[in-house]
Amino acid sequence: MRFENRVALVTGAARGIGAATARLFAAEGARVAVLDLDESQARQVSDGFAYSGLAIGCDVSKRSEVDAAVARTVERFGTLDILVCCAGILRDNLLHRMSEEDWDAVIDTHLKGTFLCIQAAQRVMVEKRYGKVVLLSSTSALGNRGQTNYTTAKAGLQGMARTLAIELGPFNINVNAIAPGFVETAMTRATAERIGMDFEEMKRTRAEAIPLRRVAQPEDIASCIAFFCSDESSFVTGQTLYARGGP
Ligand code: NAP
Repeated sequence: MRFENRVALVTGAARGIGAATARLFAAEGARVAVLDLDESQARQVSDGFAYSGLAIGCDVSKRSEVDAAVARTVERFGTLDILVCCAGILRDNLLHRMSEEDWDAVIDTHLKGTFLCIQAAQRVMVEKRYGKVVLLSSTSALGNRGQTNYTTAKAGLQGMARTLAIELGPFNINVNAIAPGFVETAMTRATAERIGMDFEEMKRTRAEAIPLRRVAQPEDIASCIAFFCSDESSFVTGQTLYARGGP
């Protein structure tokens, strides 16, 4: 029950890593706001909690929607202690084929969306002198062919975590990033479909190159996020943890 009496807001939480994180928080006593583009899909997750859940439909790249989502969370649960930014999309293409729309969509969702969510959440957290914020980077931040937009966003989020750790540290707010490797979710399944590869075959070949010889499940990443959001890591901030089954 590490999150008893805590209130968490998780974006992109209708499925994948966000859903696993929201479920873990709820299982450990938190009241959780499950945010995603589609409120009805978010509700499918929040309806499964034994503890209180709230489903919010919100596009994280829209300031008015983000501000309203944070306000709804505070109105329902009284405060906000934890923010995890999982909302994400892929629009992969080689540079010469990448459209301006695909660049903007990925940068707006990951970078601007995370910025807007933290900006709205910190108003509550600074006032109460407590907060835990986790951003979702990726091993792609180190460079990945066909992902100029995504790798730029994921590298940028590591800088955002370091900078906001400095700015928000004096208010007892920790800001860290997780950089997962290959996680079995709808996002990686869609990549397999897009390049015409069988998903099971993709997982098998990826696993062969990972020292632990398996790809990650969403719960593997959720437990890292929970560590950063618990008081066990209260002296850790501005860090990026690579959760990739290897060094
Ligand atoms: P996922 O299964 O595709 O889930 C992402 C969720 O975010 C979806 O429910 C999606 O809704 C939602 N979303 C997209 N745009 C949004 C927006 N503008 N506002 C609110 N919600 C939005 O992805 P995942 O694999 O769990 O990934 C979660 C995070 O981890 C992402 O930031 C991703 O980049 C990162 N990550 C994933 C992996 C991996 O291997 N899976 C590796 C490294 C990092 P829709 O379905 O309606 O689009």
